[in-house]
Amino acid sequence: MSETFKNYIDGQWVEARTAKTFENRNPADHHDLIGVFPVSGAEEVLQAVQAAKNAFARWRLVPAPKRGEILYRVGDLLRKHKEEIAQGMTREMGKILKETRGDVQEGIDTAFYVSGEGRRLFGQTTPSELPDKFAMSVRAPIGVCALITPWNFPMAIPTWKMFPALLCGNTVVFKPAEDTPHTAVKLVEILTEAGVPPGVVNLIHGRGEEAGAALVRHPDVQLVSFTGSAAVGREIASVCGQNLKRVSLELGGKNAQIVMEDADLSLALEGVLWGAFGTTGQRCTATSRLILHRDIKQRLTELLVARTEKIKIGDGLDESTEMGPLINQAAREKVHRYVQIGKAEGARLLIGGAILDEGKWANGYFYRPTIFDQVTPSMRIAQEEIFGPVLSIIEVKSFEQAIDVLNSTAYGLSSSIYTRDVGRAFRAMRDIEAGITYVNGPTIGAEVHLPFGGVKDTGNGHREAGTTVYDIFSEWKSIYVDYSGKLQKAQIDNAE
Ligand code: NAD
Repeated sequence: MSETFKNYIDGQWVEARTAKTFENRNPADHHDLIGVFPVSGAEEVLQAVQAAKNAFARWRLVPAPKRGEILYRVGDLLRKHKEEIAQGMTREMGKILKETRGDVQEGIDTAFYVSGEGRRLFGQTTPSELPDKFAMSVRAPIGVCALITPWNFPMAIPTWKMFPALLCGNTVVFKPAEDTPHTAVKLVEILTEAGVPPGVVNLIHGRGEEAGAALVRHPDVQLVSFTGSAAVGREIASVCGQNLKRVSLELGGKNAQIVMEDADLSLALEGVLWGAFGTTGQRCTATSRLILHRDIKQRLTELLVARTEKIKIGDGLDESTEMGPLINQAAREKVHRYVQIGKAEGARLLIGGAILDEGKWANGYFYRPTIFDQVTPSMRIAQEEIFGPVLSIIEVKSFEQAIDVLNSTAYGLSSSIYTRDVGRAFRAMRDIEAGITYVNGPTIGAEVHLPFGGVKDTGNGHREAGTTVYDIFSEWKSIYVDYSGKLQKAQIDNAE
């Protein structure tokens, strides 16, 4: 008998009015049913937004340091339940335990980092141009925020959004991805236990095109913070544009690692293995292109293929597994389709390119780690986000060509260069078009106290994490206090 889960609205776990439900199954073993969740519709969205709106009237007046203290307790509780949440997350979305522990750790780091901001959340004071007048600007909360998240970081991404949103005095309605509703329930249970008041955080399960779209359109939702695919991001942005809502978008990537002829090759090898096949390639920052200088290409390619052959694929709950399954059947089909596209385009398949569905892999969505050689920059496999364990090798003759190739996609999230030449490293930092650049490190590995986001089609100019996230979740308000006792007119030429 599987457990049936509910929405969380106004401090209560409530059944959705609809009788429709969806199942959440383990991608490593689809016989393993995790639970049944409601397919919420517009009615549940109305209730959740109303609860968030009512709670906003009180929550915005709670002093920010107090809000920060609650988030500190959230961090403590996440730490206490870290292993249990990580185990549940691996069962729910497949990535290996080392990675799900890391995912929960990002939530913990964010909680502690953001909680301290309760005693900062700095505004500015500045002299007025007039005598006996005081001028300052402060951060004000915005109102009800819709948080719509993907499945690949079921704890890290919601917490990146939610904790700063709450710290700033906003209330939220959270719509997690259909593939990871259970981790979302765990997060909300912890928020409740930590003392987040009713209505401040509301959770709605359901489909993106139904519950998600209703949330985006609701007139009382002031801000939409979305992480997911570029296609959905564009749709959401156009609705928000029509309705003049604030919207922050964190979208896809087509990240590349450059390896120059002077690089430490064993370091570059470790980097690309982790960047390309970690999380089964299902990270927005995953390495999907490997740009190799021709002088080291053959050597590094041979080493890479040899190591890739040995990657242990299986259930992420087994500590010895190195790569788990893809998230679902549709994802596996998409990856396999791209492999056929790559072959048809004339790329050379070096390894992988096959579905694994026999023996211990029979009940999951496993796929062999795949490497293509002789890829040219304009091929679809070098341009489009595949979101799976597929790496394309592109050969270049020079540093300048490497940078050009790296920059030649629509996306601009993460990037990496391996070189021992400090001049090249600095030129790469300057000339690469991306929100994140690593020198002698892989394309994955963001830390929560630095801005996170990308350029070009990866987003719309916002940055989560760091200190920049507060520009998403607060409004600037400028305040003038005139204590001269008379009408003073600014911008009037008062000079005698
Ligand atoms: P997705 O766009 O399919 O779904 C993301 C979320 O949007 C889900 O909760 C879904 O239910 C919801 N949604 C879908 N249609 C909607 C609609 N019409 N209106 C409102 N909500 C809707 O993405 P996904 O498959 O869950 O995640 C993978 C994508 O996310 C990849 O493209 C990846 O690069 C991207 N991603 C980006 C970042 C980043 O920070 N830049 C991080 C992680 C993942």
